[in-house]
Amino acid sequence: MAADAAQEWPPKQGDEAVLELASDWALSHGLVLRPPTSSTDAAYTRPGQSVIHAPYALYPSAFPRKLFQQAIDLQAAYNRLYADVTVDDAFLDQVIGGAVSKVDEFQGRLYDIWKQVKKEGIRQPLALGLFRSDYLVHAPADLPSSEHTIKQVEFNTISASFASLSTRVGELHRYLEASGIYPAHPQLSHAALPENGALAGLASGLAAAHKAYGNDKAVVMMVTQDNERNAFDQWPLAHELLRTHGVRLVRVPFSELRTTLTLSPAPVHNLLYQPPTLIGSLPSPLEISVVYWRTAYAPTDYYTPREWDTRLLVEQSRAIKCPSVGMQLAGAKKVQQVLADPKWLERFVADERERAQLRESFTDLYPLDDSEEGRIALERAYKECDKFVLKPQREGGGNNVYRGDIPTFLDRLDEEDKAKAATTASADQQTGPRGREGYILMSLIESPRDMEQVLVKAGEARGTRARVISELGIYGVVLLREDVDGTAAAARGGNRAELLVNETVGHLLRTKPVESDEGGVATGYSVIDSPLLVSP
Ligand code: ADP
Ligand code: MG
Repeated sequence: MAADAAQEWPPKQGDEAVLELASDWALSHGLVLRPPTSSTDAAYTRPGQSVIHAPYALYPSAFPRKLFQQAIDLQAAYNRLYADVTVDDAFLDQVIGGAVSKVDEFQGRLYDIWKQVKKEGIRQPLALGLFRSDYLVHAPADLPSSEHTIKQVEFNTISASFASLSTRVGELHRYLEASGIYPAHPQLSHAALPENGALAGLASGLAAAHKAYGNDKAVVMMVTQDNERNAFDQWPLAHELLRTHGVRLVRVPFSELRTTLTLSPAPVHNLLYQPPTLIGSLPSPLEISVVYWRTAYAPTDYYTPREWDTRLLVEQSRAIKCPSVGMQLAGAKKVQQVLADPKWLERFVADERERAQLRESFTDLYPLDDSEEGRIALERAYKECDKFVLKPQREGGGNNVYRGDIPTFLDRLDEEDKAKAATTASADQQTGPRGREGYILMSLIESPRDMEQVLVKAGEARGTRARVISELGIYGVVLLREDVDGTAAAARGGNRAELLVNETVGHLLRTKPVESDEGGVATGYSVIDSPLLVSP
């Protein structure tokens, strides 16, 4: 935005007054988290008794209207693409079943479950995707702002969070604007602060899946991490689902499912949940229509081997999974890298124009395998490390390796390979795939670095002014039907998912200090923000 003093955004003065309104609004409207359990404040030590406000931006951040619209316009194509990847067994077999499942134990276990369930026969051809595609603005120094583009950071197929809290932050910023507490600015208006349908949209997705399941008496189950602090991003989905759609949702920590889930006898395989204590007037056991995972994406979520048993049991059931294990595999960073290869993208996207639009949103992604491309990438990872981020097949933040840390990290992976080879019969010969094949190499997106923001960290009564970078996420909903015997797919001219729902429902803006490479809210790097749409 213009640097003229009177036109500065965010304004240079008046933060305290805004903060006072904002923090009470946050507590009034559930823009909150549970406090960390390490807190020494006595009131915090009683679980469930207190909350602190979630991390938020005091002002909406300027974001180019054109690029915001582009990200929204792309979502239907991304939804379709990842739905098609989910049902393409041969593709997943090749891309995940190769080196990735062998060098990455976590992906290997998911892959084994996927294979086993495929072998036993699919009991539920429907799967629900509550997706989020994340972008940064790419603004290399030599390009004028009119040529800035959006580049995809990653595509999330499991447990994409902050739909509720981002909806709240949009409301917060619209409230602050309407209250008159923000100083006037030529670009600031109600119309420049877009409505966010993320919360309502994800709830509608859950409702559509529940309806397609076809038993009014069944309930949706949300599975969470034990001791989840982000409960108030999750509960509003349950409230909205009941209020607007009349559908009940039970919210259960992962570890509780060790002893409470069973399948009804073959060939039906309904998923049955026996609550530890009776729930009011509800039957027991409860039949589960949809299992909505807000956990199960990181190795640490599987507290004991029994969580893996639970995951398998759910996959073997007739409940609709959000996501299914195949859909989770589709969200692997390896898949994102492979799709950046034109010939693979062509497999999924027939329309040339759509392919070009998707490709435009990719940054450069490389494998680190023995292919020619992989060897060149490896050399560049050493020689030009400042241009890259190295990513494992992980979700949830804090796992990537940036810039100058890449060479030593790759060296360490090599040593681990050597140590492994030394313990096998064939001494120092590389037998299986190398450790680095579990990683992808990605060009760093060059975000604009001239933006300012006042970041209000969780529970803090003050804001910190910082230079910042914003990451935009777009939420998409798909309800897909997998073609189990292949006839309908053949009629459609290929192995494609039938989409009962394909919608673009809302957005998330997260903002972090420029010095921070990582961007997670839960991990404390960034705050939840909302866009102030500006035209150049
Ligand atoms: P995770 O699954 O852990 O969320 P991401 O791929 O989203 O992993 O990476 C985490 C963060 O790292 C992102 O939110 C973003 O801030 C930063 N990041 C990731 N990839 C890039 C990239 N290519 N260029 C610049 N920053 C990136
Ligand atoms: Mg991410």
